[in-house]
Formats: sequence, structure tokens, C-alpha cells
Amino acid sequence: MTATAPMPASLKKPQVVKEDAMWLQKELINRNYHELATAREAGRKVSATFVPGNLNELLMCFDFARSLPETNALQNGLRKKSGRLIMDAERDGQSEDVCTYVKADLGMMMGGEIGPTGEVLPRPDILLLSYTGCFTFMKWFELIRHKYGCETVMLHVPYQGDGKIAPNMRDYVVKQLKDTVIPTLERISGVKFDIDRLRQYMRESQKAEDDLVAVLQSAKNRPSPIDGYFGAVYYIGPIFTAFRGMPEATQYYRVLRQEIEQRVREGKGPVTPDGDMGEEKYRLVVEGPPNWTSFRDFWKMFYDEGAVVVSSTYAKVGGLYDFGFRHDADRPLESLAEYCLGCYTNLNLPSRIDMICRYIDEYQADGLLINSIKSCNSFSAGQLLILREVERRTGKPAAFIETDLVDPRYFSAANVKNRLESYFQMVNQKRAAAAAGSVPPTLAAAAAALPPEGAEFAPRGGPSAGSVPPTLAAAAAALPPEGAEFAPRGGPSARTR
Ligand code: SF4
Repeated sequence: MTATAPMPASLKKPQVVKEDAMWLQKELINRNYHELATAREAGRKVSATFVPGNLNELLMCFDFARSLPETNALQNGLRKKSGRLIMDAERDGQSEDVCTYVKADLGMMMGGEIGPTGEVLPRPDILLLSYTGCFTFMKWFELIRHKYGCETVMLHVPYQGDGKIAPNMRDYVVKQLKDTVIPTLERISGVKFDIDRLRQYMRESQKAEDDLVAVLQSAKNRPSPIDGYFGAVYYIGPIFTAFRGMPEATQYYRVLRQEIEQRVREGKGPVTPDGDMGEEKYRLVVEGPPNWTSFRDFWKMFYDEGAVVVSSTYAKVGGLYDFGFRHDADRPLESLAEYCLGCYTNLNLPSRIDMICRYIDEYQADGLLINSIKSCNSFSAGQLLILREVERRTGKPAAFIETDLVDPRYFSAANVKNRLESYFQMVNQKRAAAAAGSVPPTLAAAAAALPPEGAEFAPRGGPSAGSVPPTLAAAAAALPPEGAEFAPRGGPSARTR
């Protein structure tokens, strides 16, 4: 493939293989940290806002340098700095159950705001809380406001309880933008709002969104030229953060798309940190955020087995574009509102299930894997329901693994590997059974047969009666191998469906 921007040789480390677009992405992210670190010298005000529902184009209209706290936390996680930051926050009184992005961020503040790249990050002048479904967002900014006393402006985005965006929901968000958000941003920045400037940024956003969707949908090919989870987190970096609306992002997605289309023409699979992936054996859909502290080891467990993630919900967390939404320069405020309302975190469970079933069908996936994140209540709520319903509707196997975002204490490589190996066996058995015309029981059927939480639990050959597995992952891990007899006490016998 041909990149339009040559990469500095100093950035290229021989031991990790990356596509050219991945190097470009890294350069952009690092550049934003430098812009933040030098914002005061440059006379710029600084905003902080969250990834889902971020109003990047609007913030650019006021010349803010833009910080995204989750990105700071995950970048610290990737660089293996988050463990100490989390423990500092816990020593300061934060509970073990608090979202670890929050604790990594608070720990970073306590340690002098040294950002992931080593430069000191400035205190924000404004916290823009675009509330798109995760209650933690609100508590997180309360804590930062309490610490820094900086101004906060909230955009309340109604939850999609009925699974659709009604006109009055959109109007309600637009009214807040006009009456509260824009006047506050004008006052803090000292810059007058110019709607034509917003329109121009949105034209750039739309081009980048078109190219991103083409890249993500390239995974419908066999073999898939991308990994729609591990690779996609690189691809979504610029557009989900401080670059959506900038010509640099447009260029990045054009380069990325050219690169991926070339891989399709050559019949190649994804690029992994160890080079081109070998034979594609399993195609998966993944729900839930990745683990960042052991990101490379985690990914390796997939590509070593020939497993590629063809689509993931996490790759939609900062914008759901593959069902048609685009930022629209002709309706700038309305489309900002629709963008926020349509964020994955703002969707109800039936909509999330529909989306996953659609991905399994359209990307010809072998099944669903849920990475249940210990400290992310927003994603974790309802995942068992999602698992059961997706299995019921698609007939494809689904399974849980359990890790955390940026807390290295909650990544157990052996457990994850075991679960993955069992899952791949399950897929193989499904395939064999389908070929032979019979259907083996799925994990969801087994999980459905579990006794209620707190009741005695005695799977044959598993833990002794009376012990209660603390989590679904533990319950799933305690299940006998697929195909073996399963006899939970008092539950229905195996192979009832
Ligand atoms: S709880 Fe989950 S969705 Fe909410 S801020 Fe933390 S990681 Fe993000």
C-alpha cells in the first residue's frame, strides 16, 4: 500500500508490526498530547469531554485544546502506567468497584498530571459533559470539578428507551446547545460562535466517516483484511477523539481505506503485531471494551488461534456510523444532537441485541464473545441477557470472558486463554453438529439452566455443592466442557434444546 505521509524512521520499532495507518494514528494522538501540554503557552483554553457524545467540531469552533479523559486512561494503560495510578486513587478513598478509567485519571491528577507521553497536561477550563447513557460520566466530572473548581456545562441527552430518536428528543438537545452549551463555550473561550465554521468541520467529518465505515465493513470479506476489534481501536482513535472534523483525520481515513482496499485485493488478512495473520479459522463478533494493560497478549490469544474479530460494538462507542448516520453540514446542530442520541452507550438492550445479531448475520460470524469488564457498569449491565438472546436468535454460540479496562490486577491470562480455547471448541462442535445435522447445547442454554444466585450450585464434577460462583464468568468457567453431560442441581437435564 502507499501512504501519503512518510513515517519518521525514529517512530518505527522493528519488534512490532503495524500498518502505515497505525503509525499515522500514533503520530496524531501524540500530537494532541503535545498541543495540550503547550496550550497555555499558545494562549489556548482547554476543554475536557468524554468520547461517547463528544462534540469535537463544536469545541474546535472555539479554539479549545481538547482532552478526553478515557483516552488518557487507556493510553496510560497501554503504556503500563495505570496500575500505580489506580492504586493511588484507591489509597485516596476510591472504591475497588469504581470504573478504572476514573481511578487512572484521578491517580494521574494526584501525580502531577503527567500525561501518557510524559508531558504535563493542563487543568481544563471547561468540562463539557455530554451525558450519553453512562452515569459514571456525571460522577467523574463531579470529582474533577470538586478538585479543580473548573466550570462544567452539561448536555443532557435523553436515553433511547423506545429504541428510536423521536423529534422532541432531538429538539430538546438542540435547545440546550443553543441556550446553554454554545453561550457557555463562547464565554469561557472568548470566541464568538460561527455556524459556518461548524459546517466546514462537519464536511470534513462526513468524509472521514464514509471512509471509516468502508474500512470497518471490509471485514465482510473472507479473509477479513482487518481485525474489527483489536485493529479497529487504532482505526477509531482519530475520529473518536480530538480529530473528527480536521483535514488531518480526513487524510488519515483516506490513507487507511486505500491500505485496507489493497489488502482486500491481495486476499490478505489483518496485520497483527507479529505480522500478517495466518489462516482465518474463526470469525467473531465481540461486545465490550478491550483490556488495555495486556492488549498485545490479549490480541495474540486470538490471532494465534486464527480468530479474527469481524465486528465489535466497542468500535462504535464514539459514533455509530455503519447504519447510515453522518454529521450533516446542512443541519449542523440537529445532526450533533442525533450523533449524541445515537451513541452505543445511549442504546437500550433490545437495540444492542438487534445490532449484534445483524453483525453476526452480515459478517458471517461464528458467534459472539463478550468481554465483560469488571469495572464498567455501563457495558456490563445486561450482558447476560444479550448473550442468551443473541444465542437464541442466531443459533450461534456465545461466551463470556472477564477482564478489566486498565487495572492489571484483573487480567488473568491463563483464565482468558482457557475460556477462549473452550469457546473455539464450542464453535468447532457447532460446526461439526451442523454438518451432521444435530445441534449441541449452547453456553446460554447451560447458563439459563443455572440455579438462581445464592442457591446451591453443583455442576457435575465442578465445585462442591453450596459454593456460589461470584460472577457469570466464574459460573461459565465451572461448566463442564461442551458436549459433556451437564446436571445442575434441580435444573433441567442437558440437551433439553
Ligand atoms: S463505566 Fe464504562 S462506559 Fe462508563 S466511563 Fe467507565 S468505561 Fe466508560
